Amino acid sequence: MTPSVSQLEVILEKISAECKRTGRDPADVDLVTVSKTFAVEAILPLLDHGWRRFGENRVQEAQTKWPQLIERYQDVELHLIGPLQSNKTADAVALFDVIQTVDREKIAKAIGDEMRKQKRQLKLFVQVNTGNEPQKTGLEPKRTQAFVEWCRNDLGLTISGLMCIPPFDDNPGPHFALLNKLAANCGVSGLSMGMSSDYEVGIELGATHVRVGSAIFGARN
Ligand SMILES: *Cc1c(COP(=O)(O)O)cnc(C)c1O
Repeated sequence: MTPSVSQLEVILEKISAECKRTGRDPADVDLVTVSKTFAVEAILPLLDHGWRRFGENRVQEAQTKWPQLIERYQDVELHLIGPLQSNKTADAVALFDVIQTVDREKIAKAIGDEMRKQKRQLKLFVQVNTGNEPQKTGLEPKRTQAFVEWCRNDLGLTISGLMCIPPFDDNPGPHFALLNKLAANCGVSGLSMGMSSDYEVGIELGATHVRVGSAIFGARN
């Protein structure tokens, strides 16, 4: 077993244990293994092990790695977890199954148009800037409900959930709790929150998706 495959098994066990501890069903928590910066050779052992759910943060990088893998392995579920530029929307809709980073009117509209054009139905999450950090993408918390309702009512889009990346130095708990509350207000059930260092906190506070990279693939350069 390569280290990444044994680490995947370790993380899955820890997710199970945290679900058990907090009275949650492990089937309600999807692990997204984040393979950004890692080459195809590093991803192959996980695919050969039967693992299918992956996250990438750049459209262009994903295009160099995933088309060949998707052709070779059935049922890959690819999540875009990084910011999307509108000139990359067509490529993103063609390649990804889930976009977790819908964060502004223009990109929501472009995604909706492309899904119709390509006859593809992606799952969409709205990214919320729970820390109100000026340099970070994501909607302001106070704008989130109106935005989700606009996506739903004006664009006819189904929003599956919310996603956040807490400020690096903050205790993540309050950010996850805020995201949970916003999701309830918006009437969406998906909650993508928690990375290598805090996915257990995410699960305790209701995460339906955790995004784990370095704890599985090792440190990134
Ligand atoms: C890189 C990244 C992750 C994974 O981070 P790790 O700390 O390596 O687990 C999760 N979410 C997003 C949005 C990322 O960009």
